[in-house]
Parts: sequence; C-alpha cells; structure tokens
Amino acid sequence: MADLPPSVERLLDDTDPPTIRPTTTAAVSAAVTACASESVSIVPVGGDTGLSGGTELPDATPAVHVALDGLDAIRSVDAGRWTITAEAGVTIQAVQEAAAAVGRQFAPDWGARGSATVGGAVSTDAGGHNVVRHGNMRENVLGLEVVLADGTVWDGLRALRKDSSGYDLKQLFIGGEGTLGIVTAAVLRLVPATPHRQSALAAIPDLDQLAALVELVRTASDGTLTAIELMPDTGLQIAADRLEIAHPLADTTADHVLVSLAAGEPVTDRLTAILAEAADRGLITDAVVASSGDQEAALWQLRDVQSPTQSRPELVDASLKYDAAVPVDRIADLVRVVGSHVRSAAPDAQVHAFGHVGDGNIHLWVLPGTDPAAFAAQRTQLRDDIDAIVFAHDGTLSAEHGIGTLLRDRIGDQKPPIEWDLMRRIKHTLDPGNIFNPGKTLPDQST
Ligand SMILES: Cc1cc2nc3c(=O)[nH]c(=O)nc-3n(C[C@H](O)[C@H](O)[C@H](O)COP(=O)(O)OP(=O)(O)OC[C@H]3O[C@@H](n4cnc5c(N)ncnc54)[C@H](O)[C@@H]3O)c2cc1C
Repeated sequence: MADLPPSVERLLDDTDPPTIRPTTTAAVSAAVTACASESVSIVPVGGDTGLSGGTELPDATPAVHVALDGLDAIRSVDAGRWTITAEAGVTIQAVQEAAAAVGRQFAPDWGARGSATVGGAVSTDAGGHNVVRHGNMRENVLGLEVVLADGTVWDGLRALRKDSSGYDLKQLFIGGEGTLGIVTAAVLRLVPATPHRQSALAAIPDLDQLAALVELVRTASDGTLTAIELMPDTGLQIAADRLEIAHPLADTTADHVLVSLAAGEPVTDRLTAILAEAADRGLITDAVVASSGDQEAALWQLRDVQSPTQSRPELVDASLKYDAAVPVDRIADLVRVVGSHVRSAAPDAQVHAFGHVGDGNIHLWVLPGTDPAAFAAQRTQLRDDIDAIVFAHDGTLSAEHGIGTLLRDRIGDQKPPIEWDLMRRIKHTLDPGNIFNPGKTLPDQST
C-alpha cells in the first residue's frame, strides 16, 4: 500500500492496518478533512462484524481505517419521546440495555449484538430476528449526524415521526456502507417493552405450506409475532449434538420453524391456539412450546448454533453462502429449484436453507460433499447459476448484510442500469473525490 502523507500519519494510532481512532465528531471531521486534502481513502469501521467485506482496505490507493469505537456515548435516553440518541461506536446490546432500563425496547436484534455498533448497523441497514414486526434499521432510525466528504458535519439528529419536508436524506446513509459519509450518531426509535414472550418449535411436513403457515401466524398472532425462523432438521440435529441434548421433537421431518410471540400480557394461550389450528390444517405435524424462560432460551440457542460450518469449520471458505430474500410465497420454490440444480451439478453437495422467513429472508448455504476439490472447480459456475435463480424469483442477493466487496461484481443484474446510474450520481455528488470506502457497494460501470 502507498505511503501515507505526514498530515495523516500523525493522526494514526499504533495499530495495524493504519487506523485513525477519533473520540468526538469534531475529531472525525478533522480526520476526514486531512484525508480528503491528500486524497487518502477512508474505510469506516464499527464492530467489524459485517459479513460482506465492507471494511477491507483498498489496494490501489493510500487508505486508512477510521474506527468509530471511541465514539461510545449514549447522549440521551428520552422515554417520553421514545428515543435514544447514541454515538456510532455504541454497541447494539448497550442500546438495548439502555432502552430496557427505562421500560422501553430497542427492537433490532441479532447474534452479533455485543460487538456490532450503531454506525455499522445503520450503514448496513441491519435486520435480524425482529424485522417481521419492527422492521430493519431503516424503520428504527429517526435522525442521523454524519460527517460529509469535505469535513462538514450534518446535524440531522431530529426525533420526528412524521416529516414530509422534502427528500429523506438520512435514508441515503442508511445502507450506504460508508460510501457517502461517516455516521457519528443516530436518534433511534424505541417501542413498548414486551415482558411476556413465548416461543415454540414446530415441524413442517411440506415446505410448500410455509407461506400458508407464515400467513396464519401473522394474522392470528394479532400483532404479537416477533420472529419466525426456518431451520432444517440437519441444522437442528447439529445444534442438539453440539449442546449435548436430545432432539427436541419426535417428528424429525425435513424442516422446522421457530416462532416467537411477545406482548405486554401473556401470549402462551394465543401461541397454543395458533399451533392447534396449524396442526388441524396440516401445516405442522409436531410442536414443542417452551415451558419456562430457560427452555425458551434453549430453543433460541438451538437456532443460533445450527450452522453446519460450526461442526466443520474447514468448510467456511469452501461453501457458497447466500443472504437472499424473495417474496415469502416464493421461498419454497426457490429452495426447491436451487436444491435440484445443486443435485444435478454436484450430487453430493448439501443445501442448508434457514433464515428469517417471516420477511422472506432465506440464508442458503451450499456445502461441498465428499469431494471438495470437485466442488471448488464448479463453485463459480454454481454461484452464477444460483444468483440467476434468486433474480428469477424476484429476489435480492443482499437481504440485510450489504454489498461490500463480496457482492459488488455479482449484483449488477439485480436492478436495471438506471438504478445503479442514479446511485453513482448520488455518490459523485456527495463524494466527488471518491474518498469514502472506494471499491465497495457500486458495481463497475461495465456491469
Ligand atoms: C454471528 C453474527 C450474526 C449476524 N447476524 C446478523 C443478522 O441476523 N442480521 C444482520 O443484519 N446482520 C447480521 N450480522 C452482520 C453484522 O453484525 C451486521 O452487518 C452489523 O450491522 C455490522 O455492524 P458493525 O458495527 O460490526 O459494522 P462493520 O462490520 O464495522 O462495518 C460494516 C459496514 O459499515 C461501514 N461502517 C461501519 N461503521 C460506520 C459508520 N459509523 N459510518 C459509516 N459507515 C460505517 C463499514 O465501512 C462497512 O462497510 C451478523 C454477524 C455475525 C458475526
């Protein structure tokens, strides 16, 4: 990598790769001004839990990380306005705990909550388990403070629920993956706490009935549904083995769903009634309802450790992993078409389909079988074929993990050229020198 100019060198801490670690918005602004005047690229970093390569430093230009973990203050918790104003480096878990302390809830939640930061979550438009009820970050951010490419600080920390006074500029930075500016703080929306929660694991005999099951649960739960997760039996078995417990269901059918309801009053009767109706209609064949908080936590732990790569870590890089989303009524067909394509191209490869299916988000993993070398030789073709299958199902390759470097060269066909062109024009307007996270998110002009 090219040498850095002295005006930038003197801002670095002593870590490798070269990192500027400001602790105030003014210091972020000074860092951006120094880098911009010397054409040094800036790659913002939060908790570095992102899954799309968004924090990789570019090879071609002098570049630094700007780490936001030093901006770690919760500036205010306003129970009356149902908001928290938090700086970019505050973790999602710290926001959740601050909300709980005043009897409110910050709804976005996922496994990396202890490390993922407000700035990273905003910039990837993160989702997680609760999107089916509360939406992803786009629905949970009311205002932003952002350092722009010329060092100007835009203070958009407003807490309005309604504001139709022109373009909603904050939405450009939400999901912007650090390509348009550095998020330094956010006003986050809080929702009522839901102390009563109940979860159940159910066996589904036929993936074709998944959309009907999701529809039943959504309507009959009367607004209390917080999560509906698909888990294949292979994953459940891996999780049970890992946790050294018995398989929780008698019916080890191919797929299972984990359903959670939550509300201000008990929801057990409602969940039991939904399961009974689902069984009557043949949508599920077996179910277990958590009988205590510990059992509920155990069901969720099964979900969190069901990854086949946890028992075979050597497969992490060899596998194909998708964070796709399609309309809920097309999930079953997507899984079937991908499965049959993989079986014909690589007969012993394994397809592992799981995810936040209430909002159409399906994580598809294709794992090599007994001949990893043969799989490696086919991997690129298989990947291109599956990308095309996702597009043909009106889907996206990135439901909630962003584009980063991982998908940049594959995502061009997902949208018409005019959409990428509009995004390039926005990028050029806000960052004419291309200093913010170059080489990420936007496909090459040629695609
Ligand atoms: C175990 C595990 C489970 C996960 N589960 C989920 C899940 O269910 N749902 C989900 O959506 N994600 C999930 N993720 C992915 C990840 O946690 C999210 O993408 C998260 O939002 C990243 O936050 P971060 O602070 O780690 O960001 P980073 O990884 O540091 O950065 C991510 C991107 O945002 C940019 N960025 C970071 N901070 C800023 C800033 N202040 N201003 C501008 N740009 C910035 C970076 O340049 C990069 O492009 C999971 C990750 C792990 C490891």
